[in-house]
Amino acid sequence: MLVVGGGIGGLTTALALSRKGIPVQVLEQAPEFKEIGAGIQLGPNVFRMFELLGLTDAIFRWAAFPVSLEMRDSMTGDSVVEMRIDKLYDRYHAPYGVIHRADLLDRIHDACRASNLIELYPSRKVVEIEDRGDSVSVRTESGESYTGAALVGCDGLWSTVRQHIVGDGKPVVSGHIAYRAVLPTAEWPKEYRLSKMIIWAGDKTHLVHYPLRRGELFNLVVVFHSDRYEEGWDSYGDPAELHERFAEKCEPVRALLKKVNSWKMWVLCDRPPIKNWSKGRITLLGDAAHPMLQYLAQGACMAIEDAVCLANQIEAADGDHAAAFQKYQELRYLRTARVQIMARVYGEVYHATNVVRELRNKVLQEWAAQGGVDMSWLYGEQPELPHVDNVPQPETTRLVS
Ligand SMILES: Cc1cc2nc3c(=O)[nH]c(=O)nc-3n(C[C@H](O)[C@H](O)[C@H](O)COP(=O)(O)OP(=O)(O)OC[C@H]3O[C@@H](n4cnc5c(N)ncnc54)[C@H](O)[C@@H]3O)c2cc1C
Repeated sequence: MLVVGGGIGGLTTALALSRKGIPVQVLEQAPEFKEIGAGIQLGPNVFRMFELLGLTDAIFRWAAFPVSLEMRDSMTGDSVVEMRIDKLYDRYHAPYGVIHRADLLDRIHDACRASNLIELYPSRKVVEIEDRGDSVSVRTESGESYTGAALVGCDGLWSTVRQHIVGDGKPVVSGHIAYRAVLPTAEWPKEYRLSKMIIWAGDKTHLVHYPLRRGELFNLVVVFHSDRYEEGWDSYGDPAELHERFAEKCEPVRALLKKVNSWKMWVLCDRPPIKNWSKGRITLLGDAAHPMLQYLAQGACMAIEDAVCLANQIEAADGDHAAAFQKYQELRYLRTARVQIMARVYGEVYHATNVVRELRNKVLQEWAAQGGVDMSWLYGEQPELPHVDNVPQPETTRLVS
């Protein structure tokens, strides 16, 4: 099997296929299998996948498990609601955690390297793809060719494989920009060295911060609306624009932003959901298939679920890859479409302005008083994924200030 792209989706696909005894070649354009960027959140749904893939212990060693999630109004500084995320384990039988994305990719990469069924090829940018009916061949920018029984395009938001089989052009630029930074905990203000995810939300912006790597690091993500950028990835942010966008926010938010000197910037994009992302012996997975805004913190989680589902379908189809790919997308497209659409809705909620912001605060407080919103549709077990009896419960991360 050929896998194009060695990010979280591609490496998890390789691992899931190898667990079924299927040999895989992973072609990655970058010179190393490395993630840049900062922290990501891991919902209970993805911990079931880690358990199936034998990754739980490794992830537990590198993640952080905060006690609670608090939303504060970024205009007034007032606390809106606080929810115990350690208690999600009781509800969904799996934990909610956060991890540096480099640590996550490294753990999956370690597991791939330990498999003699996975061949990892960095510095291979795929530029041409050919479905030959009984196999698939690709050519890289430097002229090498690779052939496999079938191909999974895990090449992300700007997927080349997607253009080959769907051909729907560029992703949708949302007008939302994310700046991210990671600081050693020692450099983070003492009053915020808490085992908490805190989101300061309101008026076309939000700031979220939480501990990472067992509490040794702090992660900051800032999102604001801007029409200055059309596309981009991994460039440095402009602090002047950031401070301008947050000039009206409460003093604690402005003070926290000053703690960071160097920000990395992401131009946030998604696409409208589609239901057909497979053609013959070629399919898509992760952001290549269903890129989403980050407001539900689920893009990587969906890619990892995709990988488990796909490997099961390939095993069940007994060599009929085209049939396996059809079945896999049929099982996944409504789930991933719902997350794509709901992520946009959550963005509206976080960035609400004026009366809508006040109404949001009131409604969230009412929901909290009634026991919180039921997120079973997202965090609960899914019919297309194998049942997992018991994900172990990790220790909650403690912080010493
Ligand atoms: C600000 C922000 C916050 C986020 N927070 C979360 C979160 O909290 N939780 C969560 O689950 N998700 C989160 N996400 C989403 C998550 O990062 C993505 O959904 C996830 O990384 C997608 O993985 P992927 O492997 O599909 O794509 P990618 O990570 O984009 O990997 C694609 C890989 O393919 C390679 N590639 C591309 N083209 C080629 C080619 N032609 N040939 C060979 N290789 C190629 C790339 O170099 C890359 O390594 C966030 C995203 C952003 C932007």
